[in-house]
Amino acid sequence: MENYDLLIKSGRVLDSESGSDRVADVAVSGGLIDRIEPDIDPALADDVIDASGHWVIPGMIDTHVHVAGARDLGGTHGLGLQMVAAAGATTVLDLGGSMGSLTAGISAGGSGVNVGSLGYLRPGETVPEGRLDTSQIREVIGTALDAGMLGVKLLGGYYPFTPEETSEFISSANDMGAYIAYHIGTTETGSRLDGVRELPALLGSTGRVHVAHINAYCRGSILPVEEEIREALQILEDLRDQIVSEVHLARPNFTRGKSDADGNVEADVCRNCLRLKDYEPTADGIRAALRDGYASTVEQTRTGLVLVTGERGVELFDEGDGDLPLSFPVNNATSAFQLTAARNQSDEFIIDAIGSDAGLLPRNVNIEQAMRLVKFGALEPLDMVLKLSLNPARMLGLVSKGRLSEGNDADLTLIDPAGGRASYGIVAGRVIMMAGRVVGRGGTILTTEQGQTAVTATGIPFQTVDIAQAMMYAGRG
Ligand SMILES: [Zn+2]
Repeated sequence: MENYDLLIKSGRVLDSESGSDRVADVAVSGGLIDRIEPDIDPALADDVIDASGHWVIPGMIDTHVHVAGARDLGGTHGLGLQMVAAAGATTVLDLGGSMGSLTAGISAGGSGVNVGSLGYLRPGETVPEGRLDTSQIREVIGTALDAGMLGVKLLGGYYPFTPEETSEFISSANDMGAYIAYHIGTTETGSRLDGVRELPALLGSTGRVHVAHINAYCRGSILPVEEEIREALQILEDLRDQIVSEVHLARPNFTRGKSDADGNVEADVCRNCLRLKDYEPTADGIRAALRDGYASTVEQTRTGLVLVTGERGVELFDEGDGDLPLSFPVNNATSAFQLTAARNQSDEFIIDAIGSDAGLLPRNVNIEQAMRLVKFGALEPLDMVLKLSLNPARMLGLVSKGRLSEGNDADLTLIDPAGGRASYGIVAGRVIMMAGRVVGRGGTILTTEQGQTAVTATGIPFQTVDIAQAMMYAGRG
């Protein structure tokens, strides 16, 4: 008699690769999906989850998170890993961290999720100061791969390089078999539509890149939002064989509230958010916006960072001397929605995935927001699974994830359609999250062959990824 480690009974099983959408039982053994049948005897399984009324999808893969502490949010190690698991992710790609903080996070607060990481490129920190030549650029990428990372992340919106250097980072990463993600912007353009317009020149006819959060460049700073969306989509479509991309669906943005000696807010983004609702761009303006519930800051709780506003927000703001994260509900819903739903003439999605740009930021809303789009009718359930699971797996070259069929990894996310949230997270057949409560520990690092030595030394389990299989290199298939 066969014996299964886990049986998920009577869920609505959705697999975008095969187009299958049916109520069935999913039996798991040895970390893999063993059988999918209409009725499997629960007596054959060590553990049974009753998934009646729930959706069962391939584990949600978030290709844009921040869990490895590149940004100073004051959270403790591993907190971001807890937060992504609570939201239903089973695999994440950290877009700009360090291997040190990632391994510390997995050891101290790992939630059982699989994590790949890209090294962030910051002059004076991970990259030499001054104009970089090709050999320096190759050395930076080689160092990231040697450390166990999947590649590198260009943070053009924060630490822009010249167009020549940006182009060189991309072609060198391509050459060296590294993953490369790009937050748009060079010394000549910004984190805006003009940066998107620069893509054809930066990539030439051969460059391949993952362009992060397309919606961030369609906020209406150059043209009306609708026109920016149309133009960005056209550029992405023209470069379809060279670019993979994602959009995030979160309403809150994140910026910093630091003021200078005269009480004037320093960050451009923060000043704009305040002016948008007629608040002074000063520390007092921030206090007023916090009191009114327009601005929020973050506070650490046992389970993660949460947004806090009102008097408690003002208290935290004053305790932190103003130098702490601030959030405003300003992200453009029109661009997030239209970019997510946009299709080309062959009826294929132009933008591959939904990625949260969250992790430690309290806006891990991929599933919640995608379920709203499904209810609204903008996405079919299998489209949602394509954007949350299958395409992200393809983007990372994870050939046995993102697919809910026999023989693939038993990474699964269960969704309660009534609540519109993830109800279970399962990695390699083990439950890591139940009803928002994270029960997983540790984690698995996704690395390349080149990073195996370094990752072995950490003692953390790892899985080797062949970046040549990643969508930006292998194509959409
Ligand atoms: Zn990001």
